[in-house]
Amino acid sequence: MADRPSARQLREWDRRYLWHPFTQMQEWEQEEPLVIERGKGSYLIDTEGRRYLDGTSSIWVNLHGHRHPVLDRALKGQIDKIAHSTLLGLSNPPAILLARELIKVAPPGLSRVFYSDDGSTAVEVALKMAVQYWRQRHPDAGPKSMFLRLKLAYHGDTIGAVSVGNIELFHARFKPLLFPTLEAEPPSCYRCPLGLTYPSCKTACLEPIERILQTRHRDLAGFIVEPLIQAAAGMIIQPPGYLARLRELCTRYNVLLIADEVATGFGRTGKMFACEHDGVTPDLMAVSKGLTGGYLPLAATLTTDEIYRAFLGRYEEFKTFFHGHSYTGNPLGCAVALANLEVFRRQQVLRSLGPKISLLQKLLASLAGMPSVGDIRQQGLMAGIELVQDKMTKEPYPPPARIGHRVATAARARGLLIRPLGNVVVLVPPLSVSREELTRMVEIVRESIDTLSAG
Ligand code: PMP
Repeated sequence: MADRPSARQLREWDRRYLWHPFTQMQEWEQEEPLVIERGKGSYLIDTEGRRYLDGTSSIWVNLHGHRHPVLDRALKGQIDKIAHSTLLGLSNPPAILLARELIKVAPPGLSRVFYSDDGSTAVEVALKMAVQYWRQRHPDAGPKSMFLRLKLAYHGDTIGAVSVGNIELFHARFKPLLFPTLEAEPPSCYRCPLGLTYPSCKTACLEPIERILQTRHRDLAGFIVEPLIQAAAGMIIQPPGYLARLRELCTRYNVLLIADEVATGFGRTGKMFACEHDGVTPDLMAVSKGLTGGYLPLAATLTTDEIYRAFLGRYEEFKTFFHGHSYTGNPLGCAVALANLEVFRRQQVLRSLGPKISLLQKLLASLAGMPSVGDIRQQGLMAGIELVQDKMTKEPYPPPARIGHRVATAARARGLLIRPLGNVVVLVPPLSVSREELTRMVEIVRESIDTLSAG
């Protein structure tokens, strides 16, 4: 075995060999990469032993903290049996058991689980299932091969997921590769395009959506939404009742409702799934991120009996869903996901969230008076603090000011890791975060925002 490389050596090799996602590598090469070697609870620990609060839950995946004993044990137990087999022509106990448990906790009416590897592929699966469903079940309903999305939607980085996404900075340059998608204005209560206020607006923003569904339903296979909160757009929250009305409209106009719960699933919003806040069952639901408690890449697309049955037939009818990945239903991922659901049950995680959510609300409210804090948006343990140049006019900072980035850099120097979304400072702590850790996180955010006026 070669000598263990030093922390300096690792940083150098990182800069020499790695290409990081969503990262301007020219800048990265000039910086000191933070190399995380271990974790414990809400903390990440670098190669030199420095501890950082994990304010992003390692990009919204970690739920119960790092090195949770139940998850660790599940993973070690499974590796003693087998790391991987395949779901193509075979099955495995963790995949079977996990599917059964997922259906128990999913919104009622979802009854089948199709595995894939990450949030993007879970979305791709939902899109392909939707199109094939209409072909096989209701071939006369129209072409039904397009999708409706909300502006500023983010559903992942593969081509299908980008086609139904709408974040200009990430997506515009790939337009030649993308399939056409219809688009509707999302609710945005902070800067309502209709100039209205909730609840007196009676969610008037749904009216144009109804018109699109009315006129284009024959073209539309599905309407894909991030339920309750458009996270990557900067934590834009849909008002209560919005999702329930979308459900009604999709049912009325015969368009499948596809809920992308990749970010919101598994307790993040205060309930197991965001759809539950409005009592909604989507036709297809994509989950990933928190599925394994943040341990391994795994994803699933859940659907109804109605959709599943449209794929049944004799082989030569070719109704098979021709889709799958090498690691579909990976036993390690499924075993740790099962343990994740066990932790939810055993530790009554959902019950424990209420006081933390209220505390976060209280702590964030104390930032509202800061000169650059324009809007504070929180749903469960997902929060976004939008910084603005002018509180009265809500004038945003121009992108080159890199305000969010500056706050995140200041936070890192104080021992908190966060990743901004443009001018929105985002805090997504693990569900297991303690009161003290949460308080410290918001305190560091305050100090870091304060550095803007100092500089
Ligand atoms: N959908 C949503 C709502 C997401 O937030 C993300 C990732 N942030 C994805 C899909 C894509 O997931 P992944 O990065 O695992 O492919």
